Amino acid sequence: MNINNIMSSLEARHPGELEYLQAVKEVLISIEGIYNEHPEFEKARVIERLVEPDRIFTFKIPWVDDKGDIHVNLGYRVQFNNAIGPYKGGLRFHASVNLSILKFLGFEQTFKNALTTLPMGGAKGGSDFSPKGKSNAEIMRFCQSFMLELWRNIGPDTDVPAGDIGVGAREVGYLYGMYKKLARENTGTFTGKGLDYGGSLVRPEATGFGGLYFVNRMLEKHGIDIKGKTVALSGFGNVAWGAAIKATELGAKVVTISGPDGYVYDPDGISGEKIDYLLELRSSGNDIVEPYAEQYPKAKFFEGKRPWEQKVDIALPCATQNELNEDDAKMLKANGVLCVAEISNMGCTAEAVDYFIANRVLFAPGKAVNAGGVATSGLEMTQNAMHIQWTAEEVDSKLRQIMANIHAQCIEYGLEKDGYINYVKGANIAGFMKVARAMIAQGVI
Ligand code: GLU
Repeated sequence: MNINNIMSSLEARHPGELEYLQAVKEVLISIEGIYNEHPEFEKARVIERLVEPDRIFTFKIPWVDDKGDIHVNLGYRVQFNNAIGPYKGGLRFHASVNLSILKFLGFEQTFKNALTTLPMGGAKGGSDFSPKGKSNAEIMRFCQSFMLELWRNIGPDTDVPAGDIGVGAREVGYLYGMYKKLARENTGTFTGKGLDYGGSLVRPEATGFGGLYFVNRMLEKHGIDIKGKTVALSGFGNVAWGAAIKATELGAKVVTISGPDGYVYDPDGISGEKIDYLLELRSSGNDIVEPYAEQYPKAKFFEGKRPWEQKVDIALPCATQNELNEDDAKMLKANGVLCVAEISNMGCTAEAVDYFIANRVLFAPGKAVNAGGVATSGLEMTQNAMHIQWTAEEVDSKLRQIMANIHAQCIEYGLEKDGYINYVKGANIAGFMKVARAMIAQGVI
């Protein structure tokens, strides 16, 4: 494999798609060695076939606001790869959404879903629509317009969307409601559904819970007890909330959360009613964390800053891609960080990841650490197909098992000669091997 050649032809074909190119390059670097040991991969042109999505739907979403004004947003669904199961992945509604971001997310999702051991292919979709500051009625009309276009291309065994940034239980409800009306079926075509209509227990917390199960495994493997350790989290959405709850439950102390306005440091720990307060703050449509520091006077608000400048034992990016850069990585290391794990997708820049690995900092990538979200979506699909609902304990124990399994796969492929576990390499190779084998077995399609 010649990575430079592959990357330059991809850059020529998809100029400016920086996030997508970044995600592809990271995987290629990890798998180069094993790829070269398998001539059948080259013969089947696995890389060339794997880096391009199977297809992309792009559509306009006209909708009417509460004042009667008409708006047009762009909608997408990137069906990336279905070698091991139906396309599966979330929808992101955020002003920053573009094709590069959705292609990177769909590409990552393909490997992440392979790691879960469940039969799910990779996809992603969304819109440049931002639910922030919109009324319920506006969000409903937008979701209905989105689904009027997408419904023909999805289905329980075809493509199963879910939530991501900007798409939570409310949006999934409106999207699924319209899907059901159009498709005239009540099936598991969406995950992240409400509990009353086919959703799974533990799904809302699953990404954060799974992330902490993974981090705990990493620490245990290195003889470190999570109890009493300080944790910096970014974000204060669904993912950060689940992570904060589980970290506290495991005996760690979460000292930061962040929003678009900056971050809050609370030396007493962010748990219990403080998390409820954050959830209230968030559901008030106020996308800022500063009021937390007014509510809890011991906490300090740092405007326009990121939490990585604090001295902590564990750092967990939980917000969005490239939210931790090389300078942040250096600062964390200088402050003696024990473990960094991405709960957001591609939370660290390529330079930050290289720095962690070169300096042997315990680090794990999003596609392993945050796979608990989509894994629990897979469990929701299973429950829907069986027309049953498992208890929270059943779902949680399956989630734990899946995270343990992903951790074991990372070690299998990521153990370096000096004993360092390169989780990036491990996760990329484990995910790639499964997808590549499945693609070869099914011929050139
Ligand atoms: N958006 C989540 C992710 O990045 C969940 C996707 C899903 O449940 O399908 O994995």
